[in-house]
Amino acid sequence: MGPEIARVETDSILEHQADVVVIGGGVIGLTSALFLAERGVKVVLVEKGGIACEQSSRNWGWCRQSARDPREFDLIREALRLWRGMDDRCQAKTGFRTPGILFAARSEVDEAKYREWSEKAALAGIHTRMVCGTELAKLLPQDGNLPRSALYCDSDGCAEPQWAGPAFAQAARRLGTNLVTQCAARGIETTAGRVSAVVTEKGVVKCGAVVAAGGAWTRRILRELNVSLPQLKVRASVARTTAIENGPVPSLWDGSTAFRKRADGGYTIADGTRIVVPVTPDCLRFFLPFVPVLKMDWKGLRLKLDGRFFTEWQEAAAVPWDRPSPYEAMRVLDPEPDQDYLDELLRRLRSRYPAFAGARLAQSWAGFIDVTPDLIPVISGVEKISGLIVATGFSGHGFGISPGAGHLVADLVCGVKPIVDTRNFRFSRFFEGSMPRPTTGV
Ligand SMILES: Cc1cc2nc3c(=O)[nH]c(=O)nc-3n(C[C@H](O)[C@H](O)[C@H](O)COP(=O)(O)OP(=O)(O)OC[C@H]3O[C@@H](n4cnc5c(N)ncnc54)[C@H](O)[C@@H]3O)c2cc1C
Repeated sequence: MGPEIARVETDSILEHQADVVVIGGGVIGLTSALFLAERGVKVVLVEKGGIACEQSSRNWGWCRQSARDPREFDLIREALRLWRGMDDRCQAKTGFRTPGILFAARSEVDEAKYREWSEKAALAGIHTRMVCGTELAKLLPQDGNLPRSALYCDSDGCAEPQWAGPAFAQAARRLGTNLVTQCAARGIETTAGRVSAVVTEKGVVKCGAVVAAGGAWTRRILRELNVSLPQLKVRASVARTTAIENGPVPSLWDGSTAFRKRADGGYTIADGTRIVVPVTPDCLRFFLPFVPVLKMDWKGLRLKLDGRFFTEWQEAAAVPWDRPSPYEAMRVLDPEPDQDYLDELLRRLRSRYPAFAGARLAQSWAGFIDVTPDLIPVISGVEKISGLIVATGFSGHGFGISPGAGHLVADLVCGVKPIVDTRNFRFSRFFEGSMPRPTTGV
């Protein structure tokens, strides 16, 4: 079962005409709808399950510039600027604050990598520094296994994933967005090479533009239009602890351990090296483009052949749009967490920090993360279909960047000067000869 999230009621009636239909009620679809609605654009947003019930409420809540891929520097800087105003903009709490983030360096090699990254980031206006000794000990009080140093970004932030999606949704609705949940988009209609309507389980919505923000489902949504998006899903497990006193304030990434202090006084914890890659038909299809991802520092990736192979094989089959679609058969992707990893992680934290001694796991969950071959998103039009904007493939770091991404989507739909240069996020990069590769930046 996913984390507890404030339920956003559906509008009872699906409107049948809009300027833009947004497919997907995760943080990317929601921020897109919000920034479009602010510009007076009539939006219908359809979500097959509940608002932010997939990745957008299951993530760690980090809004980080640290250790970002340089291709995302401009967008994350803009996203952080927007986050600072999101509570006011939404008239609701997203939980955004800036406790800072630490990336632990346990070797000279790590330290040199972070230093190099930090210099690169500074040129883009992202200020971080290496901390060690008493300064680091103050940031991680009573740490029984203090690293030799850490990359520290004090302007890095976090928000509460279980609050942010609902806050964005209510704000978009207040500005006139028709927001309908339990409503799958079964297909996108085109007329003379232009999107003209979205067929949903509750009827047809005529429109001039479509934003495909279906997270892990976007590949399937696009395939019906003969548009092939190289996208895979990986599974990660997360837990939240009960509230504890005097724990560390900044979030920490330490090779495998990751934690973030939550607004409720507990911690969101995860082992970032325990990532499972289910072997699926797409996994075989895209093996070659994803080899660089498998090889890089996703050291802990574990390939697993299980029931997902057949599930995805069945889901891929085309279904006529007047019949229930695979989206309706799977309202919320809700994989089982790897409980053993999480129990072991809590044991490690207890032995490292006295503050965690009394902590218990209050809840565990898992989520499927959608990834692209170069681990950066697609935020882009598609050459052969006008009016279609794709916003997907955030590769495990789309929550923090979401306000920037939503703003960029709105810019693209409205045809105004984009908030950042869009070249890095173009869809066509996958079809220009050599496949783009991941670069973590560190
Ligand atoms: C365990 C975990 C940890 C993470 N940690 C972080 C982090 O700390 N920081 C960070 O920045 N990012 C993090 N991420 C990544 C981040 O959560 C995602 O990048 C982000 O939420 C993606 O948002 P989205 O809107 O694209 O996708 P989703 O949140 O997956 O939303 C897509 C929505 O589209 C809907 N949908 C799909 N198909 C259809 C259809 N046909 N019709 C209607 N609706 C449809 C789905 O039901 C879903 O609700 C993490 C992710 C996970 C799983």
